[in-house]
Amino acid sequence: MLKPIVNKPKRLIGVALSFSLAVTAGAAISLYEMRVDAFERAREAASNMTEVIEYDVTRNLDLYSAALETVAQRLADPEVATLSDHVRRMALFGGMIRAEDLGSILVSDRQGQAILDSRAEPPRPLHFGDRDYFLVHARGQAKGLYVSKPFQVRTGFGPAIALSLGLKDAGGQFAGVVVGGLRLSYFDRLFARMSLGTHGTVALLYADGSVVARRPAIPLDSPAATRSVQADMLARNTQGIYLGRSVRDGVERLYVYRRIGAYPLFVAVGAATGDIYASWKARAWAIGVLGVLFNLATLATACLFARQLEGRLAEQRRHAELAATDGLTGLANRRALDERLAQETRRAARGQHSIAVLMVDVDHFKAYNDHYGHLRGDSALRAVAECVRANVRRPGDLAARYGGEEFCVVLPDTDLASAGVVAENIRRAIQALALPHARSPVGMLTVSIGGAAGTPRPGDDTYMEALAAEADAQLYRAKALGRNRCMPQPATAEAGAPPCVPVAPPEG
Ligand code: GH3
Ligand code: MG
Ligand code: MG
Repeated sequence: MLKPIVNKPKRLIGVALSFSLAVTAGAAISLYEMRVDAFERAREAASNMTEVIEYDVTRNLDLYSAALETVAQRLADPEVATLSDHVRRMALFGGMIRAEDLGSILVSDRQGQAILDSRAEPPRPLHFGDRDYFLVHARGQAKGLYVSKPFQVRTGFGPAIALSLGLKDAGGQFAGVVVGGLRLSYFDRLFARMSLGTHGTVALLYADGSVVARRPAIPLDSPAATRSVQADMLARNTQGIYLGRSVRDGVERLYVYRRIGAYPLFVAVGAATGDIYASWKARAWAIGVLGVLFNLATLATACLFARQLEGRLAEQRRHAELAATDGLTGLANRRALDERLAQETRRAARGQHSIAVLMVDVDHFKAYNDHYGHLRGDSALRAVAECVRANVRRPGDLAARYGGEEFCVVLPDTDLASAGVVAENIRRAIQALALPHARSPVGMLTVSIGGAAGTPRPGDDTYMEALAAEADAQLYRAKALGRNRCMPQPATAEAGAPPCVPVAPPEG
């Protein structure tokens, strides 16, 4: 027969709890992995965006700075200086790139006055001697190409940054600048192509962390645009990643930044952690709620089954008890007695202890029944059984109804002398009941008890019967000697048999 997985209600609940815990742990691990995945995906997307932007901006800046280099080189040619203004302009700017976001290329004198203009002849009367991209060259602070801070172009070109190169005369002295503007709208359009999530940002930054262009846009002269928490990081690394709260809007984001070619510019893409984890959070809630419901259902089902199991086990116990109990006296019945006797005999053989058996038989009970009727006979048997039970008190002892008006007591770990004490106690207790028995020579209900004890040899299967037969034989000796006595006679018995004085039968 298959053994049931759980046969104890508590164990059933334990199994359900362990199962729930395992499922919860599994769900928690999956959720954690999903969270890590969401972060990884956001990091990759942001990283890809920085690469795309870096590639596009670098390409444009390279083209533009190459154009400025070409103009500077052509200007340095002495023959160019000899040409007429018209031809010189063609020689300098011929074949130059033209693009929507690129402004005209201008050449200034050493005071910052435009002297050559790629888009106008004569040049427009522009003066930019006050601009940073002029001053850094005039002061010798810029080596090679300089990328300016954003500024409003005076020609109505819109907000832009300037790329400028310093010019030197034959004597190596500052001779002016060649400069071109790049509209910030170029970055706005480029950034608009990026999908950033609801709270994502993308920004072009100077190495000091101040903003060149940003999406969503912020006023570039605002303090938020010029704060520079990342300056340290940008100064040390050409690319990186960090998790931080924006100084510009306070939103926590995962930032991935990357330097734009060899320029002092960086692109930084920020994915808001709220956006990164939004769908994960929704899923986590759903899984969490389902998990709680599942666990509750599992535990409720387990409790239900446990209760049913408990009921069934209690019924089984009741049945087993009933099957082992004598209906009239409540003592163990013959079947339970035989089982216990066999079991205790084996145990005694194993441990080489003595085991004792007492046979208790009511004296003249047939006459009692005849005189008082069967019902009074039954209550007398119950009273006798109670006396037997009351005197058999050690945990391993067993009092049983052997059949009819006979009882049997099994006393493990007991020798004959100790068994005699128990027998005498039982006999006296029944005598002390003083149940009237008109047809007994002593006038009251008494019992005779025969006892036997011994240590069985291991493997001796007949010992049990032999012990019972010996106790029976002793019982018959007690009957033969006049009843109301124990045999063999214990030391505690009153001197001289019979142990109790016959009294006149009471009336009735
Ligand atoms: P002795 O002293 O030699 O034991 O005589 P006794 O009359 O007790 O012995 P006997 O074996 O002749 O009679 C036993 C009687 O016990 C017979 C039966 O009427 C009675 N008896 C057996 N079982 C029950 C029972 O369950 N209820 C009642 N009321 N009487 C029972
Ligand atoms: Mg009998
Ligand atoms: Mg009898």
